[in-house]
Amino acid sequence: MSVSKTIPVAWQRTHDHGQCIAGAIDAAARICESRGIRLTPLRRRVLELVWENHKPVGAYGLLDELKREHSSAAPPTIYRALDFLMEQGFVHRIQSLNAYVGCNDPGHSHKGIFLICNDCGDALEIEDKGVANTIDRFASRLGFLLTSQSVEAAGLCPGCQEA
Ligand SMILES: [Zn+2]
Ligand SMILES: [Zn+2]
Ligand SMILES: [Zn+2]
Repeated sequence: MSVSKTIPVAWQRTHDHGQCIAGAIDAAARICESRGIRLTPLRRRVLELVWENHKPVGAYGLLDELKREHSSAAPPTIYRALDFLMEQGFVHRIQSLNAYVGCNDPGHSHKGIFLICNDCGDALEIEDKGVANTIDRFASRLGFLLTSQSVEAAGLCPGCQEA
């Protein structure tokens, strides 16, 4: 049985990543406006830095980047911005890497599932209610109080398999 493959844009080596960034910033700006909250220049800049590529980035990596523009930036600056971006669903935390990645489809509540490439480090977000529901079902059946959920799978992206 063969499964038809669709290589997502993010995994196409030649894709126009500027469009990914612009799309993410636009979406965040629109959502903030509709929620009546402010996407301050700093929050926006941190979101751009997270979106610099599709690889999850750690808080200290972000801080180093930010310091080039704002020499007074300190860890709390980054953590506050990241907390905001996560609360609004613009950024997800990758638990296994202690790193952050931009959400593909912000604006609705969901639990991201991530396919993470061991070679290039790209993390691709997918959504599947079935997976989230299965975890919910097991948790409640076992009397486990679920406070957060993240599913992360490691492997090789199509480009890295070819290389
Ligand atoms: Zn991209
Ligand atoms: Zn997401
Ligand atoms: Zn890869």
